[in-house]
Amino acid sequence: MKTTLSRRKFLKITGATIGAAAAGGAAMKAFTVFSRPPLSPTHGLSKIPTYCDLCFWKCGAIAYVRDGALWKIEGNPEDPLSRGRLCPRGSGGVGAHSDPDRLKRPLMRKRQRGEEAWAEVTWDEAFDFIARKLNSIKAQYGPEAVALFSHGIGGNFLKHTMKAYGTPNISAPSFAQCRGPRDVGFRLTFGEDVSSPERTDIRNARCLVLIGSHLGENMHNTQVQEFAEAIESGASIIVVDPRFSVAASKAKHYLPIKAGTDLALLLAWMNVIVAENLYDAEYVRNHGFGFEQFAASLRPYTPDWAYPETGIEPDVIRETAREMARYRPATLVHPGRHATWYGDDTQRSRAIALLNALLGSWGRKGGFYYPQSMDVPNYPYPPYPVSTRGKVDNPNHKYPFANEPITTGIRNATITGQPYPIKGWMVYATNLLHALPNERETVEAIRNLDLLVVIDVIPSEIAGWADVVLPESVYLERHDDLNVEWFRDPFVAIRQPVVESPDDQKPNWWIAKRLAGALGLGSYYPWKNIEEYLEYRLKGAGLSYDELKQKGIIRGPKQPIYFEEGIKPEFATPSGKIEFYSVQLANAGFDPVPKYTPPKEGPPGSFRLLYGRAPVHSFSRTHSNRILSDMMDENEVWVNADVAARNGWESGNYVRLRNQDGVVSNRVKVKVTERIRPECVYLVHGFGHTSKGLRHAWGKGASDAQLITRYETDALMGGTGMNVNFVTLEPAAEAQHG
Ligand code: SF4
Repeated sequence: MKTTLSRRKFLKITGATIGAAAAGGAAMKAFTVFSRPPLSPTHGLSKIPTYCDLCFWKCGAIAYVRDGALWKIEGNPEDPLSRGRLCPRGSGGVGAHSDPDRLKRPLMRKRQRGEEAWAEVTWDEAFDFIARKLNSIKAQYGPEAVALFSHGIGGNFLKHTMKAYGTPNISAPSFAQCRGPRDVGFRLTFGEDVSSPERTDIRNARCLVLIGSHLGENMHNTQVQEFAEAIESGASIIVVDPRFSVAASKAKHYLPIKAGTDLALLLAWMNVIVAENLYDAEYVRNHGFGFEQFAASLRPYTPDWAYPETGIEPDVIRETAREMARYRPATLVHPGRHATWYGDDTQRSRAIALLNALLGSWGRKGGFYYPQSMDVPNYPYPPYPVSTRGKVDNPNHKYPFANEPITTGIRNATITGQPYPIKGWMVYATNLLHALPNERETVEAIRNLDLLVVIDVIPSEIAGWADVVLPESVYLERHDDLNVEWFRDPFVAIRQPVVESPDDQKPNWWIAKRLAGALGLGSYYPWKNIEEYLEYRLKGAGLSYDELKQKGIIRGPKQPIYFEEGIKPEFATPSGKIEFYSVQLANAGFDPVPKYTPPKEGPPGSFRLLYGRAPVHSFSRTHSNRILSDMMDENEVWVNADVAARNGWESGNYVRLRNQDGVVSNRVKVKVTERIRPECVYLVHGFGHTSKGLRHAWGKGASDAQLITRYETDALMGGTGMNVNFVTLEPAAEAQHG
């Protein structure tokens, strides 16, 4: 199989035909004037390895500083994640450093919350205020009354400070608003998560099934590169999506499924594979538990039954099921990542896991490998205080299979005061007003707080509601914790400063350490500075700090990653086997094998609102980056061509979206396309900013988050299914926001 991949082909897969390198040319020149002197020689060219933070994937990168200014960023060829190539966002990282809309100095609120009226203060003034408030909350309500919401590796030190403070309430939207149902569904089946980066052996797959997974738009660099390799090596690609995505354009079979009916298709596929004895019988016999009950439960779910539910013809269901079986065990039914859609998402993900189990792909080449990691010890901190009250987010284990804290559970506790009050939020690098469903509930919770602190690089919407805003240095200006990755090739990577921060921004480790000092918790930071901390950890692993600084990456020895290479098939489930039938689900009152329930329909004449990603933006965090916004400045609402013709809508017309609860979006351009089913419309997530500080991004495009007023909660783990909102379109000529 070919293992090389040209840059041209890679970009073609991303759907960003403009390309990152092109974006970095003229645009970057315009912004280097904002750069401060680099931390390396000020004349000539210097190359400093680091790892990217334009999303959470953490690709190894090399930053170039030319004549004192940040010039460009490329992939680090030594890095197994980037393999020398960054995605368009990563290449546009220069724009994060030079963004004129960045937070510059600590800010304290001057008027009512949400009015975005600020006074600049010193760091000492900010820490004094926060420490006084946190100590007062602790005295009145206990340390558990403060919650930290955090996203990405940059939150590690703040987590440490807040644990030292005494709160167990630390959560991230990446669980209940993203990958949680997937990981719980796989854990219930195989006893392990899919993890991040996903343990998917895409490059060796001979058949790749993407069901609601938009590789190429959902821009996880390594996966997209491996997707391109799989295509080049002739893998059979099956894509299931209500929208003809970039991935669909590469498929041998594209199944335009009715939204919300994936589980019906998955059950019908498994029905065919079992009924026709196409599954890996030896693998199932050796490793499976409860197969007979599972097989019996599938009998009603024939392709003919699934047709009216899914809109996929029975012959197509049979043909694609046989195609998957033909290439097993090197058939990979991709688990996806963002999986909080309809409220039955854990069972949907469990069905994906079971289909993979039938195909024998877990632990096998071309399926799911066993990720390996280097043994780098943690820093030996003093023990944290133990909370007597426990976590607040999931009282009485209402969601019995939640194995991470639920953000919306913390929000509920903040609103209701039950099971105990939450009075302080610390928010690191996550724009909760775009990440959580139902903005109104988030604002209601914020109104109950005694303290809201936001630590971020840009003035996001959640920052607009804060009492104190702390400006963080962007990743090119700071150290972060070591990335000790779990991957097919074990490695450790360093993030280190390339240039100085242009204003009074500070790295997260400095903020976390100083905050701990202000709280009287200085003993939790025995190291003087971050380099001492990093060097200590590396020394414990027998690794050289100097070598890591120079190379950016140190790789560990290759380890076995498949059963066929010697990995022992062990499953951390109650039965010790792959659970086709789950006794633990049955005992908790849930379906032990997945069952299908049709999705609820919307009001007549409305369209189901779907949302997704673009390859040049991350969440709502990159729209003020001038290089990335130059490639995509606003989103469009995708509307089916027949529907548009009937309504007289044309591409480029501006409309507003009104949801079932009367919430109206900012204006957004129509994109008329054959590439979406008629009952849906689609928006790229993260646009429609309302924060005054985001001067460049303000008012551009529509916010899907604003329209997601409803959600269906997953009864197994508390995830919030968000594809349950419906909109109508109305003309919008004027450009005013609101
Ligand atoms: S996928 Fe792109 S944005 Fe994310 S870390 Fe890698 S290069 Fe950066």
